[in-house]
Amino acid sequence: MPEPGVLVVNAGSSSLKVKLFPAGDAVLVERIGEDSNVVASFGPVPGRAVARHDEALRLVLDLLGGRLPAGGIEAVGHRVVHGGMRYSRPVRIDDGVEAIIQELSALAPLHNPANLEGIRAARALLPDVPHVAVFDTAFHAGMPRRAYLFGLPMALYRERRVRRYGFHGTSHDYVTRRAAALLGRPRVSLKLVSLHLGNGASAAAVSEGRSIDTSMGFTPLDGLLMGTRSGEIDPGALIHLLRGGLDVDGLDRMLNRESGLLGLSGVSNDMRDVRQAADAGNADAAAALEVFGYRIAKTVGAYAAAMGGLDAIVFTGGIGENDARIRAESLAGLGFLGVRIDETRNRRNATRIGADGAVVEVLVVPTDEERMIADRTAATAGLAGHGSRAEAEEAT
Ligand code: ADP
Repeated sequence: MPEPGVLVVNAGSSSLKVKLFPAGDAVLVERIGEDSNVVASFGPVPGRAVARHDEALRLVLDLLGGRLPAGGIEAVGHRVVHGGMRYSRPVRIDDGVEAIIQELSALAPLHNPANLEGIRAARALLPDVPHVAVFDTAFHAGMPRRAYLFGLPMALYRERRVRRYGFHGTSHDYVTRRAAALLGRPRVSLKLVSLHLGNGASAAAVSEGRSIDTSMGFTPLDGLLMGTRSGEIDPGALIHLLRGGLDVDGLDRMLNRESGLLGLSGVSNDMRDVRQAADAGNADAAAALEVFGYRIAKTVGAYAAAMGGLDAIVFTGGIGENDARIRAESLAGLGFLGVRIDETRNRRNATRIGADGAVVEVLVVPTDEERMIADRTAATAGLAGHGSRAEAEEAT
């Protein structure tokens, strides 16, 4: 049976990214509300001013018009960043679900309102097909409380929902399914650490198919070092800075935009630039790389402890998929866990880069969040012929 036509919509505050499956044609509209830029995967398209998300979507549907699969668009999948404690799986969108996503904007003020713009525009333009929300947090929603509770007064959790949520869930879910399939073993039999290393970076401990811990927290600020985000930090240092006169907006800017690889190196948020600077003798750039690798190593060790073992480590994201030296450096001290890399395969960015005979497998798996959203959407909408790769792998 042919795969159904699923439109995947990823709406940001001033952008709209749309991908049409099964063919994978994509259109990106950037700078909505300004001098917009439109980029299509299938050739040059004229730029034009787009004032709002609904206008952007109308334009995208026009551009994709001649490329629809035979059955047309049968469902629309929406990336939604925050599903709170409410959603542990994708959900078919109705007015009630929209209202809950709106309510969850309190937890993701930058993202959920933008995601909702996309949902409202798409439901208005394509009212006759099912719409499905796929949440970045959902894969982590089943974490045990020992992993999601912060050591704060319980009332903050109960009344203000302050806890670890985790993000990048769609990616961690996808690459660990792929890893299990590549290893030829059911995911429910495996203890996996997934490392999504892009501009944002996070790790997840995936035991028997479930995320049992993850490094991002209440927001995507916690955990690993990132391009411009600090990752883990002693909150006491932040109190100190606030007392010293930094205001809340300044603190927000510093932690989210001026820290991480950029902040430590003083060079760039881009791993390639930081590496180049370090190779040229820049000591701060070298320090940034050290911190980046060290946080990965200690997180893998912590998650092996959390799961009571480790079968495989999965690298993904722009850095994880391409940077052989970071992979080698971050895992170099983990021989005691049975982790050894095959240098030749690692340098070639091969899929399986663990050394022959090593206890722990190490894999490089390109992430494909849109593909995963399309698959989950088709399954949630009950479309026939959704026997796609990721869903088939769930059965394993
Ligand atoms: P995002 O989180 O924005 O989706 P990506 O997953 O594309 O980001 O990752 C961006 C990061 O990947 C940047 O730090 C970039 O330097 C790094 N990267 C991309 N290609 C390479 C490469 N060939 N070698 C090393 N790093 C790379």
